[in-house]
Amino acid sequence: MSAQLIIPILFGFFSGIFANYLADVLPRNRHLTNPVCLDCGEIRSFSNFLSGKRCQACGKNIYFRYWLVNVASLILSLLVWFFPAGLIPYWGSLIVLTVFMSIIITDIEYHVILNQMSVTAFLVSFAAGWWLHGWLKTILGGISGFLLFLGLYYLGRLFTRFMSRKRGEPVDEEALGFGDVYMAGAVGFLTGFPFIFPALLAAIVFGGIVSAVVLITSLIRNSYEAFRAIPYGPFIISGGIFILYYYLINPIK
Ligand SMILES: [Zn+2]
Repeated sequence: MSAQLIIPILFGFFSGIFANYLADVLPRNRHLTNPVCLDCGEIRSFSNFLSGKRCQACGKNIYFRYWLVNVASLILSLLVWFFPAGLIPYWGSLIVLTVFMSIIITDIEYHVILNQMSVTAFLVSFAAGWWLHGWLKTILGGISGFLLFLGLYYLGRLFTRFMSRKRGEPVDEEALGFGDVYMAGAVGFLTGFPFIFPALLAAIVFGGIVSAVVLITSLIRNSYEAFRAIPYGPFIISGGIFILYYYLINPIK
């Protein structure tokens, strides 16, 4: 093992801690503050946060998520170190991954993608996209992704309205949130035009597979709820990264 590996190991770990920090602080305070507890909003000491211990005030336990994110980002850091995404330098990929990771956490935990995070994702994806395939394909990819999911967003709203009228009761859960529309735009910048289309198709397929698994397990456990929406951000992001690497490995001649 070469001594150079200390870089992706160390920075991968830092990126995990930073993604954890963003996902704790931004949903509560909307700007960067001292580490806070997700549940009670009490300020936590840096040592309490860094060790992933329970909140001193309310006892909220984030140990599992904290270490899961740290290990995942360590692995992702090593992957982009060994398999760089085209011309994007290692540190560029790591920044993109850190932003996406914090979005995935808040989308899973709160079913929300914060506007600050969307704007950050736009900026880093645009820079990465420009690096990969120039500004024109980057802009076209972003616009295509945004418009395509905007269409799906309104279709979803129509469907929800139709269903709630049919059942005579309001259906609160939206199939697709506006944060997902922003994410489709950000991922469009990253993959560029026309690769945003297979990327979003992959996202829909991944989302469909996971929804089916969730549906089947909840049917087995008898806890079926028709409109329990799954967070879509993680699928849009993983679909984009999957297609980006697929076409880097198998370029169209
Ligand atoms: Zn607390």
